[in-house]
Amino acid sequence: MPKECIMKVTVLIPAAGSGTRMASTAKKQFLLLGGRPVLAHTLSRFEEIPEVTEVIPIVPEDEMENCLERCVDGQGLHKVRRVVPGGKQRQDSVYNGLKAADPDTDLVMVHDGVRPFVTSGLVNALIHSLDGCDGAILAVPAKDTLKEVGRDGFVRRTIDRESCYMVQTPQVFRYSVIMRAFASAYAEGHFATDEASLVERAGGVIRVVTGSYANIKITTPEDMILAEAILRKEAQDNAARPRSA
Ligand code: C5P
Repeated sequence: MPKECIMKVTVLIPAAGSGTRMASTAKKQFLLLGGRPVLAHTLSRFEEIPEVTEVIPIVPEDEMENCLERCVDGQGLHKVRRVVPGGKQRQDSVYNGLKAADPDTDLVMVHDGVRPFVTSGLVNALIHSLDGCDGAILAVPAKDTLKEVGRDGFVRRTIDRESCYMVQTPQVFRYSVIMRAFASAYAEGHFATDEASLVERAGGVIRVVTGSYANIKITTPEDMILAEAILRKEAQDNAARPRSA
C-alpha cells in the first residue's frame, strides 16, 4: 500500500462477549487494568495512531451506556463517533460493526476489545502488508507442543509445531473483500472465530505478519496478572525513553 495515498481506515472493536472464562461477575472488557477499563485502554491505542480514521466499539446492548460513560466520555476519544450493539456470536458482533461502518471506508481493521497492548508499529505493518493479498493478520509462532485431543480425552495426533502460529488481532481487509466474505458466510450458515477464515473460505489470500507475545487477549484471571505486569513494564520503558526536544 503506497504510503502517500490517504485511506479511510475503520477499526471495529468487538467487545460484546460475556466473558464466561474470566470467572468474574464483571465482563472482562470492563475489568480495571491500571485503574481504567480494559476496553478504554484498547480504544485509546487506536486514537493515537494517525492512520486510523474511525473506531467503532461493539458492546453488549445492555452495556452501551456503561461503555460510553466509562470508556469513551472524557477520555479524549475523537475517533469514536458511534457505539454499536453486539450479537450472539463474535461474527454477529463484527457484522453489526461492518453494517455501521462508513461505506466509503477503504480498509476495515478488526481488533478484539480485550487486547489492550496493540501498538502503532503492528497496525502500520499490517496496513502496509496488504499489497498483493486479500487480507493481513498478526500471528506468533506456537510455543507449546500442540496435540489434537478427542472428546474422549485421548490424544488423536501431534501437530507439527514448526508450521503452527497463534493468530492475533488486528486483522485488516479491504472493505469490499470483507463485506463479500461475510455475505457468503451468512448465506451458507457458516460461523468462524476470526475474520480471516471467512476471507480464506471465499478463496482469499491472507498474509501473515509477525505479531507480539505482549499483544495478549485477556481471557482468564491469569491474563489480568500478566496484563498488569505488561502495563507496568510499558510505563517503565516510557519513563526511561529520552524526551524529544
Ligand atoms: O470469545 P473470544 O475470546 O474469542 O472473544 C474475542 C473478542 O470478541 C472479545 O473482545 C469479545 O468481547 C468479542 N465478542 C463479541 N461478541 C460476541 C462474543 C465475543 O464482540 N458475541
